[in-house]
Amino acid sequence: MVRVRFAPSPTGPLHIGGVRTALYNYLFARQNGGKMILRIEDTDQNRFVPGAEQYIIEALDWLGIEFDEGVHLGGPFGPYRQSDRKPMYRQYAEQLIRDGWAYYAFDKPEALEAKRKEYEAQKKTFQYDCNTRLQMENSLSLGMEEAQRRIDAGEPYVVRFQFPDNIDITVHDMIRGDVTMNSRLLDDKVLFKSDGMPTYHLANIVDDHTMEITHVIRGEEWLPSAPLHVMLYKAFGWEETMPRFAHLPLLLKPEGNGKLSKRDGDRLGFPVFPLEWHDPKSGEISSGYREQGYLPQAVVNMLALMGWNPGTEQEIMSMEELIKLFNVEHISKNGAKFNLDKAKWFQHEYFQMLPDEVVADYLQKELDARGITASRDYVVRVAGMMKERITFPSELWDTCCYFFQAPTEYNEKDVAKRWTPDMHIHMAKVIEILNTVPFEHDAIHKALLDDYIAANGLNTGKVMNSLRIAVVGRTVGPDMITLILTIGKEETIRRVERAIEKIKVNS
Ligand code: GLU
Repeated sequence: MVRVRFAPSPTGPLHIGGVRTALYNYLFARQNGGKMILRIEDTDQNRFVPGAEQYIIEALDWLGIEFDEGVHLGGPFGPYRQSDRKPMYRQYAEQLIRDGWAYYAFDKPEALEAKRKEYEAQKKTFQYDCNTRLQMENSLSLGMEEAQRRIDAGEPYVVRFQFPDNIDITVHDMIRGDVTMNSRLLDDKVLFKSDGMPTYHLANIVDDHTMEITHVIRGEEWLPSAPLHVMLYKAFGWEETMPRFAHLPLLLKPEGNGKLSKRDGDRLGFPVFPLEWHDPKSGEISSGYREQGYLPQAVVNMLALMGWNPGTEQEIMSMEELIKLFNVEHISKNGAKFNLDKAKWFQHEYFQMLPDEVVADYLQKELDARGITASRDYVVRVAGMMKERITFPSELWDTCCYFFQAPTEYNEKDVAKRWTPDMHIHMAKVIEILNTVPFEHDAIHKALLDDYIAANGLNTGKVMNSLRIAVVGRTVGPDMITLILTIGKEETIRRVERAIEKIKVNS
């Protein structure tokens, strides 16, 4: 039974890189008929940000990334928030000490800082490891008895992992293959603090084990920690059930150098967070995909392809298709560059798939906001006709406004280019035609374009675009006759009359 977890730390809004990690876990779980778990890793109380957990839940819910167990749902392996699991970690830290895999350390922050400085002065980097640990204050250098005395006296301590000297540790990564690191490169990481809080490393391994996680799919930034994690499984005697690891490629800046950051989003004008985020401390607001009008399906599809491909040229894939097609083999080892044009392309494609009725709902909101009334049929018709020109709902009003209100001004450039001094004569003719021929496409087309414009050797572009200026205010919009038929005969005539009166050009 496949069991995967998404294990964010509630330190702020969820970055879209984190969303992608959640998505890949979800696709993998669903594809394998497994379970998807949301665990909150909040052991670092200094970095805790109120509202972040709720944000994560809301964001993933918006995107349709569903969980089977988790902090918001409960489940048989709960609690799912590490701070609520606090009492269970101590025994594991003590087990490691008993078995010779860890030790108590009493070094004060100042002492560690002094050591770092001392090494720096010699152009070296201090690492708490097998070469240095005996120079430090810990149960290895002081002896267990002295260590126990200090603990009993209430002296603060940490528990550090004791890496064996000079062994090669291999992480079998599903994406990268075997990654081997020598223990000499690794420092004796802190696993537990005397306030009873485990660090990320201990809590993560204990939880993955006790929650029976089978696959750990997470960002590449955790690869350097993986050898420690592999050693922890060994130290606990849990090697047999150790999850399989997959470290996902980074999401890169659009230029390709370096990790995609919030600042890149601000600089280039795209959100790096799924939902808008109001920072509780600074009050700063960061934009979100949802608030910018992106559709969740578009965001999911775009993120799925940032670091993975189905092995074909197919780009548009629903969640169901992604679940079918997803495979770890096709995850790239290289970082994936963020591409804003591609994000917009996906958004446009998904916007086109919306039923006219749904686009009409968006449009209706714009009308309501402006106190404009129109029949539902009319709104749906306009929405259907115009949606191909739209990427974001925020563009709807500007693109469709002239279906609901007559222009109040006429684009000067367009007028200068098209509205020749004799144009009022041709526009008067348009009114006459509309008043005499049947109000339907072919009849208007024939009367206007063939029998009037062509028969009199007029410039079609000039006349038709002037008509467009009269009706729309500028030379944009759908097919002119369709437009006339949509807004209606009376309204068209009113607008043309008004333009004749208002647009004055020098002869
Ligand atoms: N809490 C870690 C994070 O914020 C989880 C890393 C992992 O998945 O092991 O990314």
